[in-house]
Amino acid sequence: MSACPVCGGESKGTALTGLLTCRDCGLAFAAEKHAVVAAYAPGLEREIYGSAKTKLFEAALDWLDHALPGQGRLLDVGCAGGELLRAAGARGWRGEGVELDGRLADLAAGGGAAVHRRPVEECGLEGSAYAAVTVFEVFSQMDAPVAAAAEISKLLKPGGAVYIREFNSGFHLPLLRLQSGWLFKSLGLKPAVLHDFNFTPRSLRVMLERAGFREISIRNSRPTSGDPYRSGGRLGGFSTGLLKFLYYSLAQALWLLSLGRVYAGSSLIITARK
Ligand SMILES: [Zn+2]
Repeated sequence: MSACPVCGGESKGTALTGLLTCRDCGLAFAAEKHAVVAAYAPGLEREIYGSAKTKLFEAALDWLDHALPGQGRLLDVGCAGGELLRAAGARGWRGEGVELDGRLADLAAGGGAAVHRRPVEECGLEGSAYAAVTVFEVFSQMDAPVAAAAEISKLLKPGGAVYIREFNSGFHLPLLRLQSGWLFKSLGLKPAVLHDFNFTPRSLRVMLERAGFREISIRNSRPTSGDPYRSGGRLGGFSTGLLKFLYYSLAQALWLLSLGRVYAGSSLIITARK
């Protein structure tokens, strides 16, 4: 059994997913690194990275504008084609990106921002220089998320903030069981998302605490618009979007009723300060 890369706890294997799950923090992780394979049909990138997330990017920038009224340098880790960087630039932030996919990095650089093309912990960026770091659904796909979290903490100025959106494995792992049943199969639904690292709220909190962050706050994220991954099968974009919103409302109700203990949302928003 491998030790949990986040908390060092003991892990046990799960037959359905082939992943190891930490008994202490709940992180579900691959014992061996898989080659990253895009889980969506080619040609959907623009919608997945851009238009479906426009509102989520605006919400992130609203939060950062409020938390850091002086603004300054913003680093978007996993910046894709630079959609968030362009929105940040329009509000007065000085944006820079990190993107490993060469084609996406070129797109982002075309918008005028500096784009670094190595994992963030290998970029050699200036420490204590950034007011804000954003990380949208990237920790789950990194080779070394714990090292990346530590590096992000180093890059931020004291008082700087990180804004993270990450898949919630507390939603996606149980869903994988449902997905193998007849109802989901007959509708062509494939909403579960699995990566090399599948985080729970607790494993994200432990990772950030160990990287030196404080004021860590976790909440359910609003869903992306429509059905950018085409995971809703026969339901189509509008119905899938509506279902996702209804589900989000239920998840929020559960979170309130459990006094902030149960996170059922498909993705989480995590904010923290250095
Ligand atoms: Zn753990």
